[in-house]
Amino acid sequence: MTSKLINTYIDGMYKIAVPTPFRVGPVNCYLLEGDKLTLVDTGPRTEAAYNYLKDALQERGYAISNIERLVITHHHIDHLGLAGRIFEESKAQVICHKYCARYLDDQDATYSYYLKFVNGIYREAGVPQRIIDTMENAKDWYDMFGSAPVTDIQKVDEGDTITMAGHGWRIYHTPGHAGDLITFYQPQTRILLASDHIIQKISSNPLLEPAPTVGETRPRRLIEYLEQLQRIANLDISIAYSGHGSEVRDVPALVQKRIEFHNNRATSILQLFEGNAHNLWEMTEKLFSQVGDDDKYLALSEVLGHIDMLERDGKLTRHYQDGVVFWQPG
Ligand SMILES: [Zn+2]
Repeated sequence: MTSKLINTYIDGMYKIAVPTPFRVGPVNCYLLEGDKLTLVDTGPRTEAAYNYLKDALQERGYAISNIERLVITHHHIDHLGLAGRIFEESKAQVICHKYCARYLDDQDATYSYYLKFVNGIYREAGVPQRIIDTMENAKDWYDMFGSAPVTDIQKVDEGDTITMAGHGWRIYHTPGHAGDLITFYQPQTRILLASDHIIQKISSNPLLEPAPTVGETRPRRLIEYLEQLQRIANLDISIAYSGHGSEVRDVPALVQKRIEFHNNRATSILQLFEGNAHNLWEMTEKLFSQVGDDDKYLALSEVLGHIDMLERDGKLTRHYQDGVVFWQPG
């Protein structure tokens, strides 16, 4: 039988590629031994993911109940789905960013806030009712794969340090792909636990998300994402361990590639306006008409991110018409 634990460049730190039913494929969780047996991310709430983790831990002689600390990198269901179940069985200390905690201890209110926000954005974007209705499926999705409640959470933030596998890791809050995403940098070994901030094969689509505090304006996730990529690229990194796929050895080169990709995409979106005012839905259909209704959320997030960049650079201005935002080039 092949091992489910993959060695890393740090003694006592193992990568576990946990299966998910999602298109993204397996999610990388990390087991770190030492003072406190720590699991970074859990995989989705499925039996297959649970059993995979259980078998992986067993290779080092541990049971799920032996986990002493659970670190969650961000709120997406492929990363935290099993948190509640593992917490239940292990009573592990759960650590996540302060903005992530609400997805573990106050999910119903958090998801209704989220859906209400998306609904508002969709209406402003001129999105047809049939797509707005798909948001109801999103709720079922969360109920199915999201975490059971966790009640005891230690909230962390930028600049905090935690010890894992005998090393001190500094926390960087890197909003973008998700507003609550944290990465961990180990200065002596120059290793980064990057989660979905930096992924070799895919560009981490910054998803539409409400502001962490009610009443604040919508965060411009793609703009934040590019700023945070730049910030992390300035660290001296030997190797970055990602939330999906293989390790990244040349972080600055990958970051440069991502920045160029998004600048080019913003330019081609601007050309697609052909000088005329359009709303977000029209532009999304120009670019992503082939995307199915259930995935329009991703497509809308992607296009709005680039529209935000163009507005920031003074290349698009907005005006309102019957409650819908239209973007005008020039
Ligand atoms: Zn992910």
